[in-house]
Amino acid sequence: MILSEIISREKKNVFVSAWTDEKPKRKDYPLSCKAGGRFPLTRKWRWTTVGFDVSGSSYRIMVAYHKDVPEYQAVLGECDGADTKVLARLEYHAAHPIVGWHIHAVCKDGAEVEAGVMKPHGQRRLPDARSHHRRNQYLDGFSLSEESMNDNMALDIAAKWFGFKHQTSWSI
Ligand SMILES: [Zn+2]
Repeated sequence: MILSEIISREKKNVFVSAWTDEKPKRKDYPLSCKAGGRFPLTRKWRWTTVGFDVSGSSYRIMVAYHKDVPEYQAVLGECDGADTKVLARLEYHAAHPIVGWHIHAVCKDGAEVEAGVMKPHGQRRLPDARSHHRRNQYLDGFSLSEESMNDNMALDIAAKWFGFKHQTSWSI
């Protein structure tokens, strides 16, 4: 299935794990080509994972934000046995020359994406790194009034982008 179909279709069995700032374990979000076979995050990050099924396939999202600086990532992957095929990364990095919310995505079917890597072949960045970013403020980009990122907000941003609902959902 391609990304737009995964986003638009109904999600079943949505499960959100507990938030933590421990380093993720392999089982939390396996990535075979990364050190330790796990999603790379330091203890400076808070994160949770969201799991769901769409049309018979299973997916996982790593939702993570840095505790000190405006850095965010929500990484959607298709579960592939004991590995993950990364399909899209929604990100905000304060350190880029042109700052703003953007997505790195592959536009091909998940079946054609190689497993275990954060940047599979063909992954594109939208908008590209030199272009103007419409949502260039970290929190104002979502018309949020809070002064700093928090767990619910981080989850809601991922929910809005990837089209899933969860218990604490509110509309943004
Ligand atoms: Zn990026």
